[in-house]
Amino acid sequence: MTIRDNLQTIGERIRAAEQGFKRVTGSVQLLAVSKKHPAEAIRAALAAGQTRFGESYAQEMVEKAAELAGSGIEWHFIGPIQSNKTHLIASTARWVHSVDRLKIAQRLSEQKPADAPDINICLQVNISGEASKSGVQPAALAELAAQVVKLPGLQLRGLMAIPAPEDDFARQRAVFAQVRDLQENLIAQGFALDTLSMGMTDDMEAAIAEGATMVRIGTAIFGARL
Ligand SMILES: *Cc1c(COP(=O)(O)O)cnc(C)c1O
Repeated sequence: MTIRDNLQTIGERIRAAEQGFKRVTGSVQLLAVSKKHPAEAIRAALAAGQTRFGESYAQEMVEKAAELAGSGIEWHFIGPIQSNKTHLIASTARWVHSVDRLKIAQRLSEQKPADAPDINICLQVNISGEASKSGVQPAALAELAAQVVKLPGLQLRGLMAIPAPEDDFARQRAVFAQVRDLQENLIAQGFALDTLSMGMTDDMEAAIAEGATMVRIGTAIFGARL
């Protein structure tokens, strides 16, 4: 299977899930997660029409962006963020999915190049209370959202979550439903949010069933990471 074939298959899976779960056709976007894969793999995906790419390591993203300059890629940063790397992220990413504390949002706001468009932000929620320390606790989410929307140069777009791995479809759905509820609560409080970044190779259909608008797919497109 080539990267082109894999993108075709993922596109079909997304369309089938949209239909199966009564989502509007085209309402789920595909973010191709290219972390740990070389620029040639990204070029192959680009040639097949994929323009949105997600990276988890700031230095790696910036290096690939330089190598692929002028190719029209929209870079999304999806990994844990250390505050000494925010300048790399602000220089390159049009989207940051993994903001989980105010300090990081403030630094992105300050460090965004003046001539660059606003950075689209998702707040990462710690949803399964799992071992991963990333993500804002649900109880602290509204307060963080209220602070982030005030920052210049950023557009708060929605939430991101990485649930603990789970094989059972109904249980996958139940966790994504919690994220959707958190998003709906924020919208009810007046936040204008339109993005739910959730769903990976192994739980994409459950995420789409619960309202994902962007699925982040790595393995099913590029194969196993080195
Ligand atoms: C690596 C990664 C993905 C992609 O995971 P796959 O299982 O390879 O599809 C999605 N989201 C985040 C935050 C990741 O770090």
